[in-house]
Formats: sequence, structure tokens, C-alpha cells
Amino acid sequence: MAQSLVESTVLSHMALKNHEQIVFCQDHSTGLKAIIAIHNTVLGPALGGTRMWNYTNEAEALNDVMRLSRGMTYKAAISGLNLGGGKAVIIGDSRTQKNEALMRRFGKFVDSLAGKYITAEDVGMGPSDMEWIHDETEHVAGLPETFGGGGDPSPVTAYGVYMGMKASANKAYGSDSLSGKKVVVQGAGHVGQYLVDYLVKEGAVVSVCDIFQDRIDAISKTHPGVKVIDPASVYDADMDIYAPCALGAILNDETLPKLKCQIIAGAANNQLQDEVKHGKIVTDKGIIYAPDFLINAGGLINCYSELEGYNRERALEKTEKIYNTTLEIINYSNANKVPTYQAANEMAEARIDSIAKINAVL
Ligand code: NAD
Repeated sequence: MAQSLVESTVLSHMALKNHEQIVFCQDHSTGLKAIIAIHNTVLGPALGGTRMWNYTNEAEALNDVMRLSRGMTYKAAISGLNLGGGKAVIIGDSRTQKNEALMRRFGKFVDSLAGKYITAEDVGMGPSDMEWIHDETEHVAGLPETFGGGGDPSPVTAYGVYMGMKASANKAYGSDSLSGKKVVVQGAGHVGQYLVDYLVKEGAVVSVCDIFQDRIDAISKTHPGVKVIDPASVYDADMDIYAPCALGAILNDETLPKLKCQIIAGAANNQLQDEVKHGKIVTDKGIIYAPDFLINAGGLINCYSELEGYNRERALEKTEKIYNTTLEIINYSNANKVPTYQAANEMAEARIDSIAKINAVL
């Protein structure tokens, strides 16, 4: 009785955002507790990383994996990839509870889905974990180059962000040149550092901030002309373009009144704290917002390229298309008077619906 009650609760939760399948994985001997969520496979197998996190309870883990898997559906669809959306979470402390047996047991669960779900790295997971998972299943992407994978996706992600920024500049200034534009990069990490390279090469006036001095030192060494700003005053900085490459939810009630830029284009996931409320405020302020899940899709495109036999040139070529897609989204947003995040969502849904119709007749 209790069991069927739980099932019906999860099933109605799945129906809310139309998730296809949720797999609960438990293994006594390794202590594995994991959830794999497959949101939509209309366009292809569901690809999305595995996150290991010390969730306070199972409901929190379930909510997170359902939210993240749906996000992957939209990211793949808007990027023109033949991939669906999926994600997995392992419940536990990644610093103390990881070991080979746990990862390989998880790999067996991934394998049991026979390719309907393809996993990759996410928060709390590293290359050695992916290698252990790979010992049990072929359905892994984002492997190191030594395993025939694409290696670190960050340079490709940065290239996509750069393309999205240039397309936004085209709309804001009538030219996509970033030369002389004041760009603030928040977060000099994996993606931020490569983005700074592109911007400096193009003659942008770049400022960076980071909460760790070693990250700032690394940038200052390679690009002595880049200005360093205090992370606490980033939202008040004098800038044309704001590139959030650190945390999510940084577009909120507190920060938006301070921002005076014309463009927001960065790699961070889920930049709008509240999509509807803050998406509207950004639009009302006349700022062009390049949707994060589109312009940071280079990492996913890199993984996708592995499925066809990895080639970095091809991954970059596909990523370059983010430029045109960003233009299309801004045009759609202007024509339909909707914020850009909504335009991107609607365009992704339209692609999924049109392919679903073809699938139905074949
Ligand atoms: P990272 O951890 O290497 O870099 C983030 C940097 O931000 C770190 O150097 C950190 O010290 C800094 N930071 C944290 N809080 C800050 C703050 N308050 N102010 C200034 N700096 C701060 O991560 P990354 O791989 O470069 O990813 C950056 C963002 O892009 C993340 O949100 C990530 O989810 C997203 N993203 C990354 C990829 C990828 O390929 N790496 C792909 C898609 C999305």
C-alpha cells in the first residue's frame, strides 16, 4: 500500500514536466544510492552528466535530477543535436564516499539502460570516476583523450560563449566586433580563462574577477593588460558586456538594478534566479541576454562529437553555429515580444514537436 502511494506520487511528479523514465538505483554492498532521470528521447538518446552530491534527503535529489534532465532536453534541442535530455545523481559525499566498486556498480545501472541514457562528468565527479564507469558500460561521454574522448570541454564551451557574445553584439551595436568593448568576465576558471583569450585577441577591454588569487595570477601572467576587479563590486563595474562564468542565479533582485551593460553573455548555468521575473526585468532594461543554456552548449556539443568519433575541429564547427542560433533567438524574441530565454525555450519545443511528428509517421 505504502509502496503504491510512493509510486503514484513520483509518477504524478513525472507527469508535470512530462519525464519519460526515472530509474532508482540501490546497491547494498557498495552503498550506492542513485537516480537516473530520462526526460525526453524524441531527438535521440538522453545525454547528461552524473552529479555526486550530499543531498539532505531523497526528495531533494529527485527534484534536482528531474530539473537538470529537463534542462538537458532544451539544451540539446536548441543546439540542433540529435540528443535527448537526461541526468543522474549519486547521493553521497564525493570527497569521502567514492570508490571503484561504487562507480562500477553505478556503471552497471547505466549499462542496463542499453544506451537510452549516456552519462558524463558533472559536479563531484572526475576523470577517474568516468574511467571506472566506463569499465562497465560503453555509454559514457566526456572521457579523457587517452580513452578516445574529447578531453576537457572548457575550450569548446568558451568558444560557444564567444560566438553568442559576438552575435549579441551584432544586434546591439550593428557589428559583431568586440574591439574596444568593455567586457567583465566574472570567474577566471576553466571556461573564463579561454574566454579571456578570445576577447583579448579581438581587442576587447577585458576586466576579470575571481575569489581565488591563484586564478587571477594565472590570467595576469598570460594577459598582463587585463584589469583585475574586486568580485564584490562586479555588478557596479563600468562595462558594455557582462560575462558571468562562475555561479548561477546572479541575475536577481539585488544585482539587476546595479547592472548597466547592454549585453549579458556568459557560461554560468541558470543565470536568471527566477526565469520569468528576472528574464522580464532584463528585457525591460533593454539588455540583450544570450540564453545561458544555448551559448554554453559547447561542452555538450563536444560530448556529442565523441559519439561520432571525436574530432575537435568538427566540435568547434558545430559550436560556431551558436552564433546564428543566437541571432535567430534575438529576432524571435523581438518579433514575438518575449524575453530571449522564452524565445529559446519555444524554439527548442518547436523542434522537438516537429521531430516527434516525423517519428510518429515513420
Ligand atoms: P570553474 O570552477 O573552473 O570556474 C569558476 C570560477 O569562478 C572559479 O575560478 C571560481 O573561483 C570562480 N568564482 C566562484 N565564485 C565566484 C564569485 N562570487 N566571484 C568571482 N568568481 C567566482 O568552472 P568552469 O568549468 O569554468 O565553469 C564556469 C561556469 O560555466 C559554471 O557555472 C559551469 O556550470 C558552467 N559551464 C561550464 C562548462 C564547461 O565546459 N566547463 C559547460 C557548461 C557550463
